[in-house]
Amino acid sequence: MKIPLVDLQSQYRSLQADIDAALLSVVRRADFVLGREVTQFEEAFARFIGVRHCIGVGSGTDALFLSLRALGIGAGDKVLIPANTFIATALAVSDAGATPVLCDVDPDSYTLDIASAERALISGVKAIIPVHLYGQPADMEGIQHFANKHGLIVIEDAAQAHGAVHRLGRVGTFGRASAFSFYPGKNLGAYGDGGAICTNDDRLAEQIRLLRNWGSTVKYIHRVQGYNSRLDTLQAAVLLVKLQHLHDWNQRRRELAGQYREALHCVSDQLVLPKEASWCREHIYHLFVVSLRFADRDRVIQHLHNQGIGAGIHYPVPIHLQEAYPNLGAPGSFPVAERKANQILSLPLYPEMTSEQVKTVAIALGNALRLAPG
Ligand SMILES: *Cc1c(COP(=O)(O)O)cnc(C)c1O
Repeated sequence: MKIPLVDLQSQYRSLQADIDAALLSVVRRADFVLGREVTQFEEAFARFIGVRHCIGVGSGTDALFLSLRALGIGAGDKVLIPANTFIATALAVSDAGATPVLCDVDPDSYTLDIASAERALISGVKAIIPVHLYGQPADMEGIQHFANKHGLIVIEDAAQAHGAVHRLGRVGTFGRASAFSFYPGKNLGAYGDGGAICTNDDRLAEQIRLLRNWGSTVKYIHRVQGYNSRLDTLQAAVLLVKLQHLHDWNQRRRELAGQYREALHCVSDQLVLPKEASWCREHIYHLFVVSLRFADRDRVIQHLHNQGIGAGIHYPVPIHLQEAYPNLGAPGSFPVAERKANQILSLPLYPEMTSEQVKTVAIALGNALRLAPG
């Protein structure tokens, strides 16, 4: 690929000396599990988000799962989530023994639609997990109002939004807990799996610290039946180096998104460009997702790939149409999520991308739209 969807190799090259030194330092000390860098990273990330506690865990999926477990959500409980998200949002709910209840999304921001949540609300719903999709905050003011009205716990899925800012505050500071993923391709990515939970609740933080470490804080003394899900020290070392660059990388993503907007303006009759919601202060463009009005998407993607340009779909199949979840809604239940799933297209975007590359992608996409009118 000449211009891949994400380019993790060029990011490594730009940080090579620091990353290598950080990794070697862990290896030389053999400080592999809950080592020094894990605590350092937890403190630094808590400061970055603006919360009292950050607890490093094994993945973003585990961050959601452990939050639910620590909040006592399990068998017999129901949890509202949007129909278009990465499958992990739903899996965390099921893993905890609870049942996901889906709602549709707002057609402009693709984030959880509160009117739809209101319609989906049934007895047994204990919590709601808004997803800050593609790097854009969900409507947290509306969601908190809705949650307060119905006595629901809010857990934020911030796996795609490290540093995104809502008009009323930074993403990750709204919920009882918020879950972050450090999967390599995320805005802040490790060199393997990793995740974290942020919270201002002291007791919840302590409970999650227990749960991630076999229910133990003192060796061989187990207060609860926990799990083995800790942020690896090697991953924390990588994340500590990268965290120093996250703000600049997010700003660069925003700048590149602006360049895409300009370059794609001339085909805006055929494309819906990403919209920044009225409640959004800083969209951090984890993904730059356009929506094709008419074109044949498979042919557009084929054409882009032929030109050496990466393109993806996030996500092609809503949760209720996945084979894994046959009972969460018939086709047609969530029309916005379903329509979007058939039209969306993610274009290459990473902080190391050049303005020249943005132009190249925009021209190739313009040509593809002409060649595949649908
Ligand atoms: C990546 C992602 C997750 C899961 O994170 P992992 O670290 O891969 O387990 C959860 N929710 C959303 C919206 C994601 O994008």
